[in-house]
Amino acid sequence: MAKIELKNLTKRFGDKFAVKNQNLIVNQGEFLILLGPSGCGKTTTLNCIAGLEIPTSGDIYFNNADVTNDPPHSRNVAMVFQSALLYPHLNCKQNILMSLKKTKLSDSQKEERINESASILNIKDLMNKKPHQLSGGERQRVATAKAIVRQPDVFLLDEPMAALDAALRQTLRSELVNLQKKLNTTTIFVTHDQVEAMTMGDRIAVMNNGKVEQIGTPIEIYNNPKTKFVAGFVGSPPMNFLNGKIITEENINKFQINKTNHIINLESQNLQKQFSNLNNIETIAIRPQHVSITDENNYDLDLEIFGIENLGKELIIICEYNNDKIRIITENTKFKINDKIKIKIDKSKILYF
Ligand code: ATP
Repeated sequence: MAKIELKNLTKRFGDKFAVKNQNLIVNQGEFLILLGPSGCGKTTTLNCIAGLEIPTSGDIYFNNADVTNDPPHSRNVAMVFQSALLYPHLNCKQNILMSLKKTKLSDSQKEERINESASILNIKDLMNKKPHQLSGGERQRVATAKAIVRQPDVFLLDEPMAALDAALRQTLRSELVNLQKKLNTTTIFVTHDQVEAMTMGDRIAVMNNGKVEQIGTPIEIYNNPKTKFVAGFVGSPPMNFLNGKIITEENINKFQINKTNHIINLESQNLQKQFSNLNNIETIAIRPQHVSITDENNYDLDLEIFGIENLGKELIIICEYNNDKIRIITENTKFKINDKIKIKIDKSKILYF
């Protein structure tokens, strides 16, 4: 297993920066998630680490050795892609064996490695089948076995579950985490699915516009997003944002919402201690589960229900406000579209940007 370090990694295609001054450290044995919207540079970062793309500038280190210009085969990296790359004319065992072709292992050692990988991935019964005889999930398991059989120092997975159905993704999520913990191989897993990110990684690196905007454990990223982008990207349903400015009246901080001039009393929030200049705050953000529907008079906003998503156990109430959506999670199922509601925000959970 290797420690991976990217220093000012930049990859340009013509005028377009796919990755821009990317700095990132992935610790030995870590399971790191690269999370971000389509086109933010996740695959390009992974391809540079694998040696499939040569960076325009910057350096890549494995265990402090510069591998920036090393060819892929000398890096001992294994990769799994969205569509399992298997030879259609070979059966599963032969496909896995292909990964060991260039090694100096004896036939019996190869046999042992294949058996071990097949048993870890629970595909022993599939060894004589050809790829077209397998389901999508089975093909991905075989592709994963093909990757791990080489005992790579680095394991790179590029949206390996994107083409699979929801139930299978859920099963494979825990299998992959379990596998990674067993092998302890440094792993980078690319996804734009934040449920995968939250549930699988030791840490998440959230990418935007070609670089990592924040890196941290899933819970750090969820509870303390450092930017509005990270706050909006991580969490489902997404965070609610209200734009406006802080005003202070008689030592009480309030938030005046743009356009409507509606004022929310921020109550006992001692913002002066947290922020050097309250004028820099343009947005307050609150997660849907920290907004409640109330009958009391000290509510924060009155809204009309625009849409309802019934998740069985709870409802996501969607209201339109100021050309934006405000989402509220409630277990009370009595609400209907067009109902008028009053909402209360848990002020202690507000984030300021
Ligand atoms: P997705 O989740 O859709 O796969 P991504 O975050 O992995 O996206 P990349 O595939 O790394 O993003 O692409 C980053 C940017 O670089 C995109 O704007 C893409 O169009 C561009 N790009 C990637 N590869 C090439 C290429 N070979 N030639 C030109 N532009 C490219």
